[in-house]
Amino acid sequence: MSIAENLERVRAEVAGASLKSGRSPDAVTLIAVSKTWPVEVIEQAVAAGQKIFGENKVQELLAKVPAMADDMEWHLIGHLQKNKTRKVLPLCSSVHTVDSVELAQQMNRIAGELELKPSVLVQVNVSGDEAKFGFPAAGVREVWESLLELDQLKIEGLMTVPAFNSDPEAVRPDFARLRDIRDSLVEEFGRKLPELSMGMSHDFVVAIEEGATLVRVGSSIFGKRDYGAG
Ligand SMILES: *Cc1c(COP(=O)(O)O)cnc(C)c1O
Repeated sequence: MSIAENLERVRAEVAGASLKSGRSPDAVTLIAVSKTWPVEVIEQAVAAGQKIFGENKVQELLAKVPAMADDMEWHLIGHLQKNKTRKVLPLCSSVHTVDSVELAQQMNRIAGELELKPSVLVQVNVSGDEAKFGFPAAGVREVWESLLELDQLKIEGLMTVPAFNSDPEAVRPDFARLRDIRDSLVEEFGRKLPELSMGMSHDFVVAIEEGATLVRVGSSIFGKRDYGAG
């Protein structure tokens, strides 16, 4: 299968799941996760009409963005170290991985200096997996007021990466939990949080059924990643 064919199939599945969950077929945005893939491969997805890409490593993002077309949109979907903020903010249209108040404050300060108003998502470690970043599910509410004070950041919603399980039904409760956390924050604080970033190649249909608006799909588009010897 070519990347163009894969993209066509994934787009159809995204639209189908969206319709099935009672939303319009374009209510869910597909982010093509291009991590580990070189520019020439990513260009095939661009040629097939894909505009939005996700990278999880800052180094890769910094190398690829300047080498590719200006009208592409990049989302950072992996952990951001505070000291990389200044380099990353100008390159990304969204950072999905705000995982501490300190990082949010640093991003707010630097965004102010750079006169940017970045869109961000707050990462929640819904499954409580120790290997994952994000605020614990029970700890989001208590930091929410301090996050809302950061005027330079547009907090658009929440993101999660559940503990891996090859059975998508096993993570459905984690996706539902992220939606519930979002709903209670909206109810309590009265600020809109339209975006839920959840769902990857093997579980994006279930994530959409539970309310995802941004799905991060890599291997179903580009094929199996080879992390190689590096
Ligand atoms: C790699 C990655 C994805 C995509 O994973 P696939 O299984 O290849 O679709 C999604 N989200 C994050 C945070 C990732 O690091």
